Amino acid sequence: MTRQVPLFINGEFVQSGSSNKLPVTNPANQQLLAEVPLATHDEVEAAVASAREAFQTWRNVPVAERARLMMRYCALLKEHHDELGEILSQDTGKTFEDAKGDVWRGIEVVEQAANVGSNMMGETVENVANGIDTYSYIQPIGVCAGITPFNFPAMIPLWMYPLAIACGNTFVLKPSEQDPLTPVRLVELFIEAGAPKGVLNMVHGGADQVNQLLNHPDIQAVSFVGSSKVGDHIYRTGTDAGKRVQCMMGAKNHMVVMPDADKNGTLNALVGSSVGAAGQRCMAISVAVFVGESKQWIEELKERMATARPGAWDDASASYGPIISKPAYEKVLGLIGKGKEEGATCLLDGSDYVVEGLPDGNWVGPTLFTDVTPEMSIYREEIFGPVLCCVTVDTLEEAIELINACPYGNGTSIFTNSGGAARKYQHEILVGQVGINIPIPVPLPFFSFTGWRGSFRGDLHAYGKQAVRFYTETKTITARWTHSEASTSKQPNMSIN
Ligand code: NAD
Repeated sequence: MTRQVPLFINGEFVQSGSSNKLPVTNPANQQLLAEVPLATHDEVEAAVASAREAFQTWRNVPVAERARLMMRYCALLKEHHDELGEILSQDTGKTFEDAKGDVWRGIEVVEQAANVGSNMMGETVENVANGIDTYSYIQPIGVCAGITPFNFPAMIPLWMYPLAIACGNTFVLKPSEQDPLTPVRLVELFIEAGAPKGVLNMVHGGADQVNQLLNHPDIQAVSFVGSSKVGDHIYRTGTDAGKRVQCMMGAKNHMVVMPDADKNGTLNALVGSSVGAAGQRCMAISVAVFVGESKQWIEELKERMATARPGAWDDASASYGPIISKPAYEKVLGLIGKGKEEGATCLLDGSDYVVEGLPDGNWVGPTLFTDVTPEMSIYREEIFGPVLCCVTVDTLEEAIELINACPYGNGTSIFTNSGGAARKYQHEILVGQVGINIPIPVPLPFFSFTGWRGSFRGDLHAYGKQAVRFYTETKTITARWTHSEASTSKQPNMSIN
């Protein structure tokens, strides 16, 4: 019997009544791991109704108690860290080390969610007028929904529901239909940590189920992480329906290589950040911009990239895993083909790569293009594969101009030994997350994940204080209290000794 991925509604794991199902496969060998249902209209309704009802009690649970739930959850996630990593590896094909990193980065957000009390502090001003004080409270907003992508099935759901719930909200999660097995285990552990029924619900599906959530009158806020095309639709539909929406979307991240950079460290960073996780990270480096004489290093980059190789999740010597699905694999191969057709020079071509013993896996070897121009498809489109495009320019100004003209603004980095170049870059670049001699500058959860421009729609970003603001509303109270003579007859002694 094929494993059936359950929904989680009103505190119970339930089997969907839907006959529409999708296969969940191991992308290293196409083995069928499970079937995931596309939840019915009534099942999505039931999940939202459960979250709405639970909000009435959960919002009154003291903040310290909500924080303690997160502490218990955090402890359980740490205890099950390797087990989660193993489930995640099989579901996504990620190497075990990478999969454990995915889980760990999520745990760090839960640690932060346990600190919710300090982050929910309001502001006060005494005596805004005679005898009148103004103070603000941060209150939860109600039922929130989260729609997550395939590429971080632990970290990204954990960016969302722990913080939303710690703030006093309830939640409906719609994880990626491509790898729902890790989210199922995350939910089980949340229940084991003591989450009351209805506080977290999970439905599965695709566009129809998401659209139902986006138009649902009982949902107040929607967090989305995924591709730009879908994010644009989610932002428009959700905001049209009057919801608060944050969309973390696609990317094309550039690394600027200055000629004064440390060559060895820079080339290693370029290889790891472009082919790591098979390039399926929204912060992967997909374009290397060589400034001036640093272009001489491209030949050596090719040699180092050629040593990276994909492999099975439990092959400790593999650099990265397969592409998540056959359609995504075909898209990567199609773009590699277009790169050649449109005149880029392919120095390393991973299109025909096969891993020994796993002939059916979605393998793409490390692929390196040079002579790439901004008009080419491989420059304009997000490839989401282990493909690095090299562009050459003469000056740092030209590099900045190129990157600022790219519609995406998720992450970027500069490798240099010049403080002046780094300062100029960090100041002038129109990208929300900047690394200086750091290839993938993902901020830890006490900051927020701050993509810009085409990589983000909304006002408040994922996790950190910005997410607390996203999942809450500010109530400002202006109060006048008078003190009668009768009650002042027993004044305390106010003298200071
Ligand atoms: P995707 O957009 O295909 O899917 C994301 C989610 O949206 C899934 O839950 C999916 O079921 C749902 N969805 C798909 N089509 C839909 C539609 N037409 N209407 C409504 N919902 C729909 O993304 P993916 O392929 O799973 O993930 C990869 C993408 O996510 C890449 O573009 C990557 O850059 C991006 N990403 C961005 C960040 C970030 O923080 N900016 C982080 C991780 C991934």
